[in-house]
Amino acid sequence: MDKIDLRSDTVSWPTPRMRQAMAEAEVGDDVYGDDPTVNRLQAMAAEMLGMEAALFVASGTMGNLSAVLSHCTRGDEMILGDVSHVFLNEAGGSAALGGVHARTVPVQPDGTLRLEDIRRAVRADNPHYPTTRLLCLENTQNTVGGQPLGADYMRAAIDLAHELHLRVHVDGARIFNAAVALGVEARDLVKGADSVMFCLSKGLCAPVGSMLCGSEAFIARALRARKMLGGGMRQAGVLAAAGIVALEEMVERLADDHANACRLAEGLAAIDGIVIDPARVRTNMVQFDLADSVAITPRQLVEAVAAHGVVIRASSPFRLVTHYWIGPHHIDKAVAAFREALAA
Ligand SMILES: *Cc1c(COP(=O)(O)O)cnc(C)c1O
Repeated sequence: MDKIDLRSDTVSWPTPRMRQAMAEAEVGDDVYGDDPTVNRLQAMAAEMLGMEAALFVASGTMGNLSAVLSHCTRGDEMILGDVSHVFLNEAGGSAALGGVHARTVPVQPDGTLRLEDIRRAVRADNPHYPTTRLLCLENTQNTVGGQPLGADYMRAAIDLAHELHLRVHVDGARIFNAAVALGVEARDLVKGADSVMFCLSKGLCAPVGSMLCGSEAFIARALRARKMLGGGMRQAGVLAAAGIVALEEMVERLADDHANACRLAEGLAAIDGIVIDPARVRTNMVQFDLADSVAITPRQLVEAVAAHGVVIRASSPFRLVTHYWIGPHHIDKAVAAFREALAA
């Protein structure tokens, strides 16, 4: 990468080991269940998440939507965070394609949903109301700066949901970032959940794909949903091969991305005009704002750092994300670019 692209970890390219594994992958028709590489990836994913079974899907969005379609029927309601990815960034698929009503509760600064908010959002059994069916948790919680939700909170929320007769889906797009940051196994963060989705294509660097994990019975339903959504792929082993490398080689090293995010936050904190709390950086995301005193607009900042090869997006707050192709020397260059842009 000649640019220092900090827009997202989704911009990460496959590693040389992935490209080699993809070239050499054994394949079959996965819609017939015949692709040995897909089958191996699915078994690995299920094992790592402590679930009975797993399904390779084209994207995180497809995984989350397949889960919602498998847990809910039309007219059901799901409870989820008001700034969750499923609510904000998935084109309203659960409503458009599933007929599922969204009931949002506020995401707290630490990424959690308050247990009392969840309890209060559950509907009574009354013909005026939709049936509350599903709780959707996001870990790490993207929009509040990639906050990891701890095992104790996850357990408490999952137990509460089950006590209230809800099913639980975990949008764990970055569940391995959470696990590495907290020093626990990913399976300990989703214990008892009815399903979990995680992405192979973000910090784990695979070019395409996500995994949906759950019980055998759940995955059998999700397989039909995936087919309905057009996600039955044929010789998908070419893609799954990269996913296997991702799970074997790319999980533990996420700690480097987290260290680089801290380095970036500390560098930015030393620049006049940047408002940031480095203590909030727990995984691979850094959020900051411009001080009111700063003369340039967010868009001008984007252009000024772009002149130094640093690619970011204008947003409020700004969000920068580290990944495999960003090393400490890139961080130092990026910090210098911000310092110069704001020096005027
Ligand atoms: C990226 C992301 C998704 C969706 O994954 P895509 O592969 O981009 O569809 C879902 N949830 C969260 C929290 C994400 O960050």
